[in-house]
Amino acid sequence: MLPVVALVGRPNVGKSTLFNRLTRTRDALVADYPGLTRDRQYGQASVEEHPFIVIDTGGIHGNEEGIDALMAEQSLMAVEEADAVLFLVDARAGLTSADEAIADYLRKQDKKVFLVANKIDGIDADSAIAEFFSLGLGDTVHQIAAAHGRGVTQLLTLALSPHIEELGQEKLEAEEGEFDDELVFEEGEEVEIEAPEQDDKIKLAIIGKPNVGKSTLTNRILGEERVVVYDMPGTTRDSVYIPMERNEREYTLIDTAGIRRRKNVNDVVEKYSVIKTLRAIEDANVCLLIIDAREGITDQDLSLLGFILEAGRSLVLAVNKWDGIDQEVKDNIHKELDRRLGFIDFARVHFISALHGTGVGHLFESVEEAFVSATKRISTSMVTKILDMAVFDHQPPMHNGRRIKLKYAHAGGYNPPIVVIHGNQTKHLPPSYKRYLMNYYRKSLKIMGTPIKIEFRETS
Ligand code: GDP
Ligand code: GDP
Repeated sequence: MLPVVALVGRPNVGKSTLFNRLTRTRDALVADYPGLTRDRQYGQASVEEHPFIVIDTGGIHGNEEGIDALMAEQSLMAVEEADAVLFLVDARAGLTSADEAIADYLRKQDKKVFLVANKIDGIDADSAIAEFFSLGLGDTVHQIAAAHGRGVTQLLTLALSPHIEELGQEKLEAEEGEFDDELVFEEGEEVEIEAPEQDDKIKLAIIGKPNVGKSTLTNRILGEERVVVYDMPGTTRDSVYIPMERNEREYTLIDTAGIRRRKNVNDVVEKYSVIKTLRAIEDANVCLLIIDAREGITDQDLSLLGFILEAGRSLVLAVNKWDGIDQEVKDNIHKELDRRLGFIDFARVHFISALHGTGVGHLFESVEEAFVSATKRISTSMVTKILDMAVFDHQPPMHNGRRIKLKYAHAGGYNPPIVVIHGNQTKHLPPSYKRYLMNYYRKSLKIMGTPIKIEFRETS
């Protein structure tokens, strides 16, 4: 389970600067998909290779209304669900009444709070932070300069330390027998990446904003009678993991909605939680992203899609509530899919009705295909041969009068499949050429439903 770190503080203390610094490494992946804006509030980050979820709560004032109230609700929930709260104050501006109001709120939360004085660059930090002790949040004021990265790693290591120990252990166990990234590959050398053996159970996460039909679909997939059996309370924080079988294949369904007993009058509708969704995505092999045909493609859908792509997960898209809508609405959805989602050409799209069960069976064909693609064995000779063909068909461009050279490639891992290409001046390759290579690999390797990650290495 990924730990969650929430950034809290009044406006202008440097929350988004810190957020951007923490999540920057993941930016590169999303940058491969033009048209996708990443969520500025929720992100995946890592400190010393330990992944965690970071949330910029924006400014919480406590008296929000309307849409602000909705945003504030997720922010407050983020604080509630966080494993560590970083409370940022501005060392240059000094203590303000807004800081005091937030401190009052946090003191009531029974949370691990780290008081962090930001912007300590170029000032006498020790005297600047003295006044913050009066906030009554422990006897340490952590000092950082988010803009320059000073103190950031130490702070996060400390904040995450209980979780890092736990995760470190899991990671060690998971890594045994896994591909060794440090191996040096010579051109033409034959190296096989072994796909995971024992784990052919597919972890399938059902992802979507509130009311798209996640529970209806889960109920439909499981069949009515099993619903009661699995009608467990669940918490806001955790998804429900349901073992099931389909087409002689074992699955674990990760149900972010939490199954509700519809016939029960006292039905408690669970709160939608972005954190729960993020964790489900990280934990899944394949994500089934559901979109509501009646609403079209919304920014919230795109933001969920961004999380899935950032995590490198396999993806199947389902446009739900396809029943009882007229042709014009259908045409519009098709247009929107082209316009707003045209860039993810690797995912299959299904039009379904969870309510009536139409199209639900076929979803699993694409889910299986995506899983098989993601865990496919690819060999070094194969990816090098494909590189040769791609370069032969269409040469990389020149940079500063010299042609960018791509020499050979090796397989760098699976889930998602990674191709590592060695060459000269590779950092000057334009995005369009990278996309060309990605598509070339996709077609040649017959990989569908999963992104292919291409990494470049300079050779001398
Ligand atoms: P937010 O409103 O809390 O998200 O604050 P921002 O991240 O937008 O930062 C507010 C301002 O503080 C921006 O102009 C940043 O460039 C500046 N800032 C952030 N971190 C630092 C820092 O470590 N040192 C200095 N000198 N300025 C910073
Ligand atoms: P969740 O919040 O994503 O779990 O969404 P629910 O499964 O609770 O569904 C929200 C609403 O949409 C409910 O009223 C469902 O009956 C309705 N709904 C779900 N799937 C369909 C569908 O395929 N067609 C139609 N017409 N309505 C649906």
